[in-house]
Amino acid sequence: MPATLDSGPLIHRLPKVELHLHLEGSIEPATLREMARRKGRLGDETEEWIRDREHDGFRYPKFADFLNAFKLLSLLLEAPEDYALATTRLIESLHAENVRYAELTLAAGVVLWKNQSLDAIFEAVKQAADDASARTGVRVAWIFDAIRQFGVDHARTVMRHAARFRNRGVVAFGIGGDEERGPARLFTDVYREARDLGLHLTAHAGEAAGPESVRDAVELLGAERIGHGTSAGRDAAALQSLAERRVPVEVCLTSNVATGVVERIEDHPLRSFLEAGVPVTLSSDDPAMFHTSLEREMNLAAVTFGLSLQEMIQFAENGIRAAFLEKDDRASLLDELARTVAKRQSAIENDSCCLL
Ligand SMILES: [Zn+2]
Repeated sequence: MPATLDSGPLIHRLPKVELHLHLEGSIEPATLREMARRKGRLGDETEEWIRDREHDGFRYPKFADFLNAFKLLSLLLEAPEDYALATTRLIESLHAENVRYAELTLAAGVVLWKNQSLDAIFEAVKQAADDASARTGVRVAWIFDAIRQFGVDHARTVMRHAARFRNRGVVAFGIGGDEERGPARLFTDVYREARDLGLHLTAHAGEAAGPESVRDAVELLGAERIGHGTSAGRDAAALQSLAERRVPVEVCLTSNVATGVVERIEDHPLRSFLEAGVPVTLSSDDPAMFHTSLEREMNLAAVTFGLSLQEMIQFAENGIRAAFLEKDDRASLLDELARTVAKRQSAIENDSCCLL
C-alpha cells in the first residue's frame, strides 16, 4: 500500500542521514540578513539577492542560471564567521528533522577561487559544527568539492586540502559543476591520488549531462557515490554499472526540477533506479535555494511515486549504509533505525501511518 501525506510522522521519527547537502545552498534568507546585521550592514546586493530568492519561485531557467546563483550566494560569504553562522543554522535545521548524521559539502574550490583562506574557513565551520553537534546531537562530517570547469590543477589543489584535513572531519573529495566543460576523464589521476590518500570519493554526475557522464564517474573515477545520476535512470548500461558495483545514487528531486534537469517530479526516473537494484538515498542538495528539506523530499517521493512505508524505511537504511561512517557508528545508527521501526511494526504493516 502506498504511503500517504500522513506518512510524515513516521518519516520524522526515522533516524535519518543526509549525504548530499551543500553548506552554501542551505543558507536561508533570514540567515543572510542575520549575517549582514552582525556586520552592521545589509548591502544593496545582499538585499537584492534575498528578495530574488523570496520572490522568484526558486526555479532556475537553465542549469547555468543555477550555477551562477550559487556563485553569487558564495560571494556573500565574506568571512569565516559567515561560514560558521551558516553551519550553526544548518545543523539546527537538521536537528529539527531528526537527522542524526550529515555529510556537508563545502565548496572548497569556490573558497580558493575567492582567494579566501581555506584553513581559516575550515577552522570556523569545524568549531561551529562541534558546538552545534554538542548541543543537538547531530554529527557531521565534511566533503570538499572542486569545480569541474576550473580544471585539473584546481581539483588537485582542493583534493590535497581535503587530505590535509582528513583527521579533522573531512571524509571525502568530490567534483560538481559543469560536466561538459569538466568531463570525468580529466580527473582520473586526481581521484587515484585521493583514494591513495585515504579519502572517500563522490561526484556530481548525470545532472546536466548524459548517462556516459555517470558511467565515467563510476568506472574511470571510482566514485563511491553519485550525486544525482539522473540521466543514468534512462540508460540500461549506466543502471547496470551502478547496480553491479552497488554505487548509491543521491537523488534530489526538487533540485532536479528547479534546475530543469527534469520538467516535473513525476518525470524523475526514481522508479527505474529502484527496479534496477541501484541503492537510492534521498537528499535536499541546496535546501534554501530550492525551498525544500530532507523530510520534504521524502514525503514528496512517497506521494509522487506511491511508495510504501517500507520503501521509505529502506531509503533511511540506504542512507546509513552509504554514509562514510566508521563501522561502529554505522552499526549504532542501523540499530537505532531498527528499534524505531520495531516499535511501530504493526502500524507499518497495516500502513496505518497516521496512527504512528
Ligand atoms: Zn549538489
